[in-house]
Amino acid sequence: MRKLIAANWKMNGSLAANQALLDALRTGLGSEAPACTVALCVPAPYLAQAQGLLSGSAMQLGAQDVSAHEAGAYTGEVSAAMLVDFAVRYCIVGHSERRQCHGETDAMVAAKAARLLAAGLVPIVCVGETLAQREAGQTEAVVRAQLGAVIAALGARTSEIAVAYEPVWAIGTGRTATPEQARAVHAALHEQLQRAGAAGVPVLYGGSMNAQNVRELLAQPGIDGGLIGGASLKAADFLQIISAASVN
Ligand code: PEP
Repeated sequence: MRKLIAANWKMNGSLAANQALLDALRTGLGSEAPACTVALCVPAPYLAQAQGLLSGSAMQLGAQDVSAHEAGAYTGEVSAAMLVDFAVRYCIVGHSERRQCHGETDAMVAAKAARLLAAGLVPIVCVGETLAQREAGQTEAVVRAQLGAVIAALGARTSEIAVAYEPVWAIGTGRTATPEQARAVHAALHEQLQRAGAAGVPVLYGGSMNAQNVRELLAQPGIDGGLIGGASLKAADFLQIISAASVN
């Protein structure tokens, strides 16, 4: 399976910083399209800028969240149709920061994924356990329940999503899941997807993936790419991750 490398810029960037980063990525990639799919999930106010700067490049544009509603009186929200206006292809839903800081439930995440599919976008559905849940031996049950809600809502269209396994304790902490820990959860998620008739769905790993650990993680069976936060803001590091994903 062709690997998918998605950058999650989170709430970082500025017009000047984005220009410098995207210029460096384009220069680093050169004219050859990478042998993996690359998506950059940028903050909503920078979609127009990123769309312009990515024009003609092999990198795809992504967003970090979408409204569960179609349109109307939802102040501050961004609809799937608005993302389409900027040629957005991928959109993260259910990131643990949204689940934790904004109270997003499994049902809300499923509704957002459905909105994206209806608009022709690819949802990157994040699942992952907290440290307390891992220590209580609940990891598989937690991620299966999170993914299960999405499968129940999407039915046959589950085959059109991407999933990102992001252990909450590994996000932004510099603490990465061991290859064995990641492999076990990826195997469980792939098995669940297969039973749902969605065997081809890529399952990405996210959580302090960087230029040093990317090769070992991507070499694990069932790890089909990465969702990368901090390391995606440094052009040299992100280029190394793209390059590692292009050979595995
Ligand atoms: C993320 O925000 O999805 C993420 C994986 O962040 P980091 O790579 O910084 O841990």
